[in-house]
Amino acid sequence: MVIDAHCHLGKGDGLTAPWNTDAPLQPYLRRARAARIDRTVVMPPFHGSYARANAALARLVARDPARFIPFAGVHPGRDEGHVRTMVGRAKSRWGFRGIKVHRFDAPITREICETARDLRLPVIYDVMGNAPLIEQVAGQYPTVNFIVPHLGSFGDDWRAHRQVIDQMIRLPNVFADSSGVRRFDYLVETVRRAGPDRLLFGSDGPWLHPGAELHKIRLLGLPRDEEDLVLGGNLLRLIGRR
Ligand SMILES: [Zn+2]
Repeated sequence: MVIDAHCHLGKGDGLTAPWNTDAPLQPYLRRARAARIDRTVVMPPFHGSYARANAALARLVARDPARFIPFAGVHPGRDEGHVRTMVGRAKSRWGFRGIKVHRFDAPITREICETARDLRLPVIYDVMGNAPLIEQVAGQYPTVNFIVPHLGSFGDDWRAHRQVIDQMIRLPNVFADSSGVRRFDYLVETVRRAGPDRLLFGSDGPWLHPGAELHKIRLLGLPRDEEDLVLGGNLLRLIGRR
């Protein structure tokens, strides 16, 4: 079983860039199926209302609930005071299994961390290269598991990659996904130093090709049991399955 731990699905309302406009399902699914990716964590693209985006995502996920594992988007500022209600509803009503926060919206808040802790949900927190943000948050909320996408930087910031690897070694609740990481040796180092139980295969589909991203994990040449962790075992553990 191969699980892609990072994909976007649905329409955004920004209309200024791919990531706030449209994350179409069909091209992703075609490529993921060809690459033998069985299941996919999906989250909304950037949106002006995550309440609406999460509801739209739930409708798409309902078409194939055996495939999709939805995470709820929240905006730390705009959704202030409503996070628990929003995420609680997404979990109980639609079976959402995690929370997605992006620093481009705003840095994560205690409200979001406490919601994650109380509802026992992992948080995908994109820090956009500002790895020290993880330090405080993961230390303050040791029972919440944080997945740092792109090993800390979609923009290829090797300093952020190195900081996140060091954090994973020191902080047991910090994980990373492999999506969009170009400098291959940082993935090698993640597995070697932080361990195969800390890296999650993710594609950042539909904008990146899930087959190409999966191939990076295969190229690590890990023993089968370690590769299985990266390709799905770790994600299942974090969402409380298995
Ligand atoms: Zn993404």
